[in-house]
Amino acid sequence: MTAPVPVANFLRTQIERDLAQADWQPGRRFGGSPGDAAHHADAPADPAAIRTRFPPEPNGYLHIGHAKSICLNFGLARDFGGACHLRFDDTNPEKEELEFVEAIKEMVQWLGWSWEHAGCSHLYEASSYFDFMYRAAESLVQAGLAYVDEQTPEQMRANRGDFTTPGVDSPFRDRPAEHHLARLREMRDGRHADGAMVLRARIDMASPNINLRDPALYRIKHAEHHATGTRWCIYPMYTFAHPIEDALERITHSICTLEFEDQRPFYDWLLEHLARLGLLARPLPHQYEFGRLNLSYVVTSKRKLRQLVEEGHVSGWDDPRMPTLIGMRRRGLTPASIRAMVEGTGTTKSNAWIDYGVLEGCLRADLEGSAPRAMAVLDPLRLEICNYAEVLGEGFDACRAPAHPQRPELGERHFSFGPLLWIEREDFAESPPKGYHRLYPGNKVRLKAGHVIECIGCTKNEVGEVVAVQARVLPDTKSGTPGADAVKVKGVITWVGAHEALPAEIRLFDRLFTDPQPDSGGKDFLAALNPASLRVVQGFVEPALGKAEATSHWQFERHGYFVADRVDHAPGRAVFNRTTTLKDNWSK
Ligand code: ATP
Ligand code: MG
Repeated sequence: MTAPVPVANFLRTQIERDLAQADWQPGRRFGGSPGDAAHHADAPADPAAIRTRFPPEPNGYLHIGHAKSICLNFGLARDFGGACHLRFDDTNPEKEELEFVEAIKEMVQWLGWSWEHAGCSHLYEASSYFDFMYRAAESLVQAGLAYVDEQTPEQMRANRGDFTTPGVDSPFRDRPAEHHLARLREMRDGRHADGAMVLRARIDMASPNINLRDPALYRIKHAEHHATGTRWCIYPMYTFAHPIEDALERITHSICTLEFEDQRPFYDWLLEHLARLGLLARPLPHQYEFGRLNLSYVVTSKRKLRQLVEEGHVSGWDDPRMPTLIGMRRRGLTPASIRAMVEGTGTTKSNAWIDYGVLEGCLRADLEGSAPRAMAVLDPLRLEICNYAEVLGEGFDACRAPAHPQRPELGERHFSFGPLLWIEREDFAESPPKGYHRLYPGNKVRLKAGHVIECIGCTKNEVGEVVAVQARVLPDTKSGTPGADAVKVKGVITWVGAHEALPAEIRLFDRLFTDPQPDSGGKDFLAALNPASLRVVQGFVEPALGKAEATSHWQFERHGYFVADRVDHAPGRAVFNRTTTLKDNWSK
């Protein structure tokens, strides 16, 4: 992928500074795959200038916040000649499903990234490091750096202290290492119930950083894991597993969101000790934190997104109104627009709120130059050309228009004019408001890429609604023919021929929430659901749209950018989603 001009940020500056130092990470080797100190010891120098990783937990679909992390990590690797690993952080049994693993891979690739580097695929599963993690746990116990605590969870909580009170040492803390090692093995061998005891690091119960008050490393959980089955009944805590995963994979810059800042001292403590014990190769990874991406009118928490799906507020994870990447893809958002949004909004040390309109702006910028134009009528009103046969004879009158006004190489669209057309209901007014230049009795307009017509009347039903409009076509006014402009008109309207128009279901979306920050400050985000976020209309589209594929975008003139719905659009059933309107009406 070609790189856009990178926006400077503190991570880029950090990496530039690192790479400029001759003695940055001397002797960094890579054994071709993740592994312990011995595995990397005699390996060749690492072919990657830096290593980053995107480490999703496969417990849900990726959302726009994840796109930030993906583009940041893969983007830095791309720009600095490094590798970015895709690592499934699947250390937590029960919650994870294979369905999500495949969906995550697909979305990373859809965004345009690859986990291959120098002929090597860097797709990893943290659960494959369980053996090493357990070995590390035993080594820490033997070195007096970890112990098995048999206090109840309540006692442990009470003895942890708080911001103003130091914690209290566990009565089990100072027992000999052999005792703790035996207990750890009993835990591993399934001799104890869930919650009966935990393995904790032995650091400092009085530390001002509560994360250093003997954090838990392993807990008992008699649960089946999707990859390791029933082999383990103890599972590592995230704070223990994550630094180890980074170190085994030789990650240089481990980039995470700000809430992990207080964990960094433990990250460093753990890796330093495991390196001293000879288990992990140096140089060790470093953790850097950046601010999360929040998008207005959107929630980006997997738990809340799951709730929207499970309670039926949306049709599924891929509902086009969802901020999931599969939802956004179905809506018609392009990978380039998502990359431009997350790369263009910068990366800082504070949690940023990005206006949804920024994403739409990036989308319009991407589609304006590429999406072919088409005509569609979303609120159809019948237009009868009363003098059609007199002026144009038998048969239909072939018309043409460029696929794109600025890009002749995209060719032409073909459609035809006939005695019966569909126009937008709003393009006719029986008594026109001031300044109205469209159809009203006695007025002339041009049918876009067609003829000039003059309105002569309308037909109403028994309740007084207009059901058809009558007009006559003016001879020698067809667009693109000599003298066509001799008749001056102030209005141009869009239309499709009733004889060839394709009936289509058209889905128009509005924001899913009415509150720009639906879940901030502990608010009930469901209370802010927009009851009018989906409007479905039956319209008509130009015949060329019969060939629309799910991946191609169209600009329906004056209505916005549309894409065929990748789930429901099929031969014989045209379904289009509006990706976005033509101009920003989010901020109005
Ligand atoms: P959620 O809170 O929605 O469950 P998560 O952070 O728990 O998200 P993970 O699968 O653990 O989900 O996330 C994978 C990576 O994506 C992590 O490194 C995380 O920091 C990053 N990430 C998640 N949400 C955002 C966000 N809004 N902005 C930037 N990065 C994010
Ligand atoms: Mg997480």
